[in-house]
This record gives sequence, C-alpha cells and structure tokens, in this order.
Amino acid sequence: MRVYNFAAGPSTLPVSVLEEAQKELLDYQGTGMSIVEMSHRGKPFMAVNAEANALLRELMNIPDDYSVLFVQGGASQQFAAVPLNLLKNGKADYILTGNFAQKAYEEGVKYGDMAVAASSKEDKYTYIPDMKSVKFRDGIDYVHTTYNNTIFGTRYTELPETTATLVTDMSSCILSEEVDVKKFGLIYAGAQKNIAPAGLTIVIVRKDLLGNASPICPTMLNYAIQDKNDSLYNTPPCFPIYMSMLVFRWLKKMGGVKVIQKINEEKAAMLYDFIDNSSFYTNKVNKKDRSIMNVPFVSPSEELDAKFVAEATKAGLVSLKGHRVTGGMRASIYNAMPVEGVKALIDFMKKFELENK
Ligand SMILES: *Cc1c(COP(=O)(O)O)cnc(C)c1O
Repeated sequence: MRVYNFAAGPSTLPVSVLEEAQKELLDYQGTGMSIVEMSHRGKPFMAVNAEANALLRELMNIPDDYSVLFVQGGASQQFAAVPLNLLKNGKADYILTGNFAQKAYEEGVKYGDMAVAASSKEDKYTYIPDMKSVKFRDGIDYVHTTYNNTIFGTRYTELPETTATLVTDMSSCILSEEVDVKKFGLIYAGAQKNIAPAGLTIVIVRKDLLGNASPICPTMLNYAIQDKNDSLYNTPPCFPIYMSMLVFRWLKKMGGVKVIQKINEEKAAMLYDFIDNSSFYTNKVNKKDRSIMNVPFVSPSEELDAKFVAEATKAGLVSLKGHRVTGGMRASIYNAMPVEGVKALIDFMKKFELENK
C-alpha cells in the first residue's frame, strides 16, 4: 500500500508517473531494454533529453536567450559552480535565509570576496529580510538568494532591488508557482524535491553570462561547455532525466504551473489555517514569508512531537519528522502530494490533539 510521504527530499512522485516508468522498464518503446541500459548518444535517449529540456522551457516559459542545463552534483555543487562561472569582478553578495543559503555563502567565500547583505539567522530564519531595506555593494557580480527555504519553511515573495545579476536556488520550489525567469540571471535546482529522483540538477542561465568561467573552473562545472554539448558532455544521469520528462508531461497535462500553483496554495492554506486556529500546534514563520512547499510545525512539547511522528507513521503519514536543526515536524507538500494527503494529515492532527491535550 502507498503511504502519504511528506519527505523533504527525495520526495513523493506522481503515482501515474511511477506506473508509467514501471510499465516501460523492461522494454522501452520496443527497444527490448530499459532507457537506463542504452547509450546516452542513441536516438531514444537523445529524444528523451531533448523532450525534457523542451518541456521545462515550455512549463516555465523560459526565454530563448536562456540555456537549460541538466547537470550532476546536486544543488550543493552549484554553490561552487555559480562563483566559478559568474565572477568577473571577483565579488558577490549573499542573503542568508537558512542552512542552504549559509552553505552557498561558505562555498562562495573560497572563490571570491563575498559579503552577507542580509540575514535572518538571529531569529532562527523565521522570516525573509525586507527586500526594500537590503543594500548591496557596488560592483558585485551577482546577488545570491535561496527562493524557498526547505528546512525553515520560508519563501521570497519579493525580489532584491538590484541591477546586479540575480541568482537563486529553487531546489524546493521549482515548478510550484509561476516565476518570471527574466528577473534572474541564473536559477538552479536539485531535481529530487519537486521533479524527479536524485541525481539531476537543473541550471537555467542567461546566455550572456556564459563564457566567463574562471580558468580553474572544472570542465564539468563549466556552464558554457555543458551548453555547447546539450548537457551531454559526459554520461548524463539518464534515469532522472527520463523521470523528469514524465513528470513534465504529467504537469503539462494537468494544465501547467498556473494550475498546480493554485492547488499548492490551496493545500498550504488548508494546513496553515488549521495550525493557526489550533491552540495545540504552532508554526513560527512570519505569515507573509510562509512557504507553500514546506510547512514546519510543533506541538506543545518535544515528547509530544516524537509521539506525533511515531503515531502518524503508523497511520500511513510518513517522514513528518522535522530537520535535525529545527526539531518538531515538517510536512513537505510538493506538487506530487495530492490534496487528499493534506486532508488526511489534518484529520490525523485533529485526532492527535484531542487525544493528547
Ligand atoms: C535540498 C536542498 C539543497 C541541497 O541539494 P543537494 O541536491 O542535496 O545538493 C540546496 N538548496 C536547497 C534550497 C535545498 O532544498
């Protein structure tokens, strides 16, 4: 039996996509083998690679002057790849809104003169700094932001006011809501939260930013080289690319990002409304900055948190334990989490509250 899986990543995938992959696993379209057993330079895989790329462009409305790269190493590898490719003046500013933002900054410091323009660390990352009051240094090559903060459950609703190139990590929110790609010079995202199995990282980069990589930039991290080779410089992560294609088709059939955004907002509103109206559960995030993908919450005590997670698991609601730095619970409600899953969680929360008040 399938459970409702609230894992932050790797995370739940649409059942219809899993079934399709299962159906095709022994014999991909009459080839007598699966998509992961054949050459990445053969026709069938090249078609998958091209379709996945084209569908992502269509779903996100990515303009022609942007490249879409399929790379490896996770979002964490981009913490180094971004400065190695984008630094020209040798400096950039970072906004720290969570652990991953902090890690991106610490990695960046190895390659240039990096500064923290704003941080919500003092308040345990429970809000996104007010963009109007954030000031940046002159002559920076980019501003780095983390659009959705997976661990702390916050997201940007406004962008920094800067003429510098805007870079953002969308690992836990890509395709969850409409974004204007043109506002960014570079967007990157690990696929394992809202798209596909782990192993694929998506980089969307404006083409004028290509070609300035540092001489010490490893070939594999060089965006211009990946672009020139249609992301097939070396053996790509074939399976996650194939799964991405299936997920993109699923999303397109549903009506695209506009439609899923509405569903996501409804799911998140249901859960936040329930938490806000309860005297038992709390979400500590500044309301305006709440993520629609990751919803952290606590019960009145750590003992009850542990009991909640254990009993929820028995009830088929799994991976609700919060990240080790925050404790408590976290419900990740990505695109593939059906509305019924959120309803089942709320029903369980009601029951647990009655039994433990
Ligand atoms: C999960 C996550 C990462 C790390 O991703 P990896 O692919 O494991 O390197 C980075 N940033 C954000 C916002 C994330 O949610």
